[in-house]
Amino acid sequence: MKIEPKENIPLSSYSTMRLGGPARYLLEITSPFEIEPALKWAEEKNLDVMMIGQGSNIVWNDAGFDGLILVNKIMGLEMQDNEYQAFAVIGGGEPWDSVVARIVDANLSGVEHLSLIPGTAGATPVQNVGAYGREIADVLVCVQAYDRQANKMVILSKTECDFSYRKSRFNTVDKNRFFITSVTLALSHDNPMPPFYPALEAFLKSHNITQHTAKNIRQAVIEVRNSKLPDPAKVANCGSFFANPIIDNMQLDSLVEQYPGIPRWEIDSDNTKISAAWMLEQLKLKGYHEPNTGMAIWDKHSLVLVNENAPNTASLLAFRDAIVKKVEEKFGVTLQQEPELI
Ligand SMILES: Cc1cc2nc3c(=O)[nH]c(=O)nc-3n(C[C@H](O)[C@H](O)[C@H](O)COP(=O)(O)OP(=O)(O)OC[C@H]3O[C@@H](n4cnc5c(N)ncnc54)[C@H](O)[C@@H]3O)c2cc1C
Repeated sequence: MKIEPKENIPLSSYSTMRLGGPARYLLEITSPFEIEPALKWAEEKNLDVMMIGQGSNIVWNDAGFDGLILVNKIMGLEMQDNEYQAFAVIGGGEPWDSVVARIVDANLSGVEHLSLIPGTAGATPVQNVGAYGREIADVLVCVQAYDRQANKMVILSKTECDFSYRKSRFNTVDKNRFFITSVTLALSHDNPMPPFYPALEAFLKSHNITQHTAKNIRQAVIEVRNSKLPDPAKVANCGSFFANPIIDNMQLDSLVEQYPGIPRWEIDSDNTKISAAWMLEQLKLKGYHEPNTGMAIWDKHSLVLVNENAPNTASLLAFRDAIVKKVEEKFGVTLQQEPELI
């Protein structure tokens, strides 16, 4: 198979933050069979290779990527549905929200809470995408992937993916080892069951929605998300830019003494997750525009950094660093970036 990647392609077109330098080579992959020849081609040239989806969780450095980027465009959605069980096998390059829409239209449930999450189906296991109290690990059966260590296609069961909160082996110990070509999900004929996440519950109550069908839950999720999050097709952003910090009991006690109102969620007996959004709001940063960098914080969601007219990634990073410093100075907590910087 002849591999003909494009050369010197601006990666700003492959990130919803719309910043970053060029990829030395870039190739859109439409079939799993293209992966092996592409890897061989890159190996001969001694180039790094990585696979991406829509770049909704990537910030590219200004230097770009001095290797080969494979953009996953492997399509297909096959549903197997009988009276008792329903499964969907989804090509890794399928736009995730269109997958959710088709599953919900088929009167199946399981992914409706994950409506409107940008990106591809193949990227959902990477950070175990989640929203409104549900995550892809809840429905994932297995992934099919090209294993760059074994040099062959493999099937990894859900257990083998090693999922935890926004983590899997794909973004930790085995980063860049597996190129995910398809995901298989187990779906349900039953309606989604309460209790629902507070923001969703409040929306359902205030709109008098008592029928908890997958369609109604999807619609509610879409409306709640649209009221808070910018549409990456219109406003350049990568969703939540900062993760909620997880701190130990000692740090928690001293923080709560000073700020009793800080929203927090116990993870286990030793660790607690605290609200990064709340800290930024205390610093009056919600809706803050910074003309020097061309960056801003979204006025309806303080964790979302938006690129209004930043000239480059360095400007975004300067803006990020200034925010991290302010939070450190006031709360003694260091915010971690959620999207990957490559
Ligand atoms: C407005 C907005 C809202 C968001 N809301 C949420 C949310 O509610 N919950 C949530 O979890 N995330 C959210 N995100 C983050 C993002 O949507 C997810 O991380 C998404 O899964 C990224 O998909 P992608 O195709 O764009 O992946 P990319 O950004 O292209 O890639 C992300 C990482 O996955 C790797 N990768 C991608 N595809 C593959 C593949 N096929 N095989 C192997 N590795 C791969 C890449 O190498 C990279 O390391 C949001 C983002 C935005 C912009």
